[in-house]
Order: sequence, then C-alpha cells, then structure tokens
Amino acid sequence: MTAAIKPRTMKMALVGDINVGKTSLARMFIDGTFQARYQASVGLHFHTKTLRDPSVTIQLWDTAGTERYRSLLPHYTRDAVCAVLVYDISSRDSFDNVRSYWLDFVESHAIPNMVKFLVGNKADVDTREVSDYEAQMFATNHDTFFMETSAKFGTNVDNLFTEAAKAVIKAIPETQ
Ligand code: GDP
Ligand code: MG
Repeated sequence: MTAAIKPRTMKMALVGDINVGKTSLARMFIDGTFQARYQASVGLHFHTKTLRDPSVTIQLWDTAGTERYRSLLPHYTRDAVCAVLVYDISSRDSFDNVRSYWLDFVESHAIPNMVKFLVGNKADVDTREVSDYEAQMFATNHDTFFMETSAKFGTNVDNLFTEAAKAVIKAIPETQ
C-alpha cells in the first residue's frame, strides 16, 4: 500500500495599504483572473492553491478590509510563515506605509523566522513613484525578499508565490 504524501500547508498573509492590489494578486494567483473595477473586500478570507514544485499548499490570506479594521490583523498574521508586504509602485505613500507601519506590524506579530516578501505591484503602469532600486535596497536592509509584479498582466505572480514557498522551506523546516 502506498500512502499519498500530503503537501505541506503554508499560511501566507497579504498586507499593505488599501488599493495596492492585494486582492488582485490573490485572484490572479488562485484562478488567473483580473478585475479592473475596484471592489472592496470585507471579512477574513483565505484561498488555497497547491503547487507542484515545490510541492506545497499555499493558504493565502487576503487582508479584506482589515486595512481599516486593524484590530483583526493579529488573527490574520498569526501562524503565517510568510508575510507578503504589498505596495503600489505608482504610490509613494503606499511604499512609505510599508516602511513606517506594515513591516513593524508583521514583525511584532510574527513567528520566528517568518519570511518577508516586499512586492511592488502595478509594475505595468507608467506613473512610477518608487524605483526598483530604492525598494531593493530597503528589502536588503530588512532581510526581506523583493519582487515587482503586475496582477493585471500576471507578471511575476506565480513566480512570487513559488519563490516565497521555496524561501519558507529553507527558513522554517517542517515540524510535523
Ligand atoms: P486591494 O485593496 O489591495 O485588495 O487592491 P485591489 O486588488 O482591490 O486593487 C485595487 C485597484 O487596483 C483595482 O482597480 C485593480 O483593478 C487595480 N490593480 C490591481 N493590481 C493592478 C496591477 O497590477 N496593475 C494595474 N494597472 N492595476 C491594478
Ligand atoms: Mg482587497
């Protein structure tokens, strides 16, 4: 008899200001679709997707309105093995808020060795306010991975979660 090997499940939390594209990244990753119209999401949501290489199931938590209901956030990042810190490359404010708020927030609610991934989304727009050089420097100085994505065109979206999963496998060996 052969036992099926169940892929490890990893909880990852998307955080960042409202409107940076967190829900769009989740949607593009999970089912490959994009919606141009803005729709505020409310409540605690997660979606799962199983990758083949590496063989893991990602449980992806979308902040879903918790940008405003900040008291919910600790529940949301609890037990997360990876925080995906999203800003919009065309919004200097959204990047400054990662530096002044979101990074501290996830670090103060994190399990040891949690993987941090800084993501500059909307890389397709031509109204850039944050250079990739500046973001890369910031990430390097804060022990954080970095990538730019476009949820609109799917650019680097699968790559982001694959790299995050690989980093988690390295940083946090499975306990059970
Ligand atoms: P959230 O509040 O962080 O969850 O952001 P949403 O995913 O709801 O996206 C906010 C708005 O930005 C929506 O109108 C999206 O269509 C748009 N958006 C999201 N990602 C991208 C992207 O990569 N490129 C462009 N051009 N627009 C995007
Ligand atoms: Mg959202």
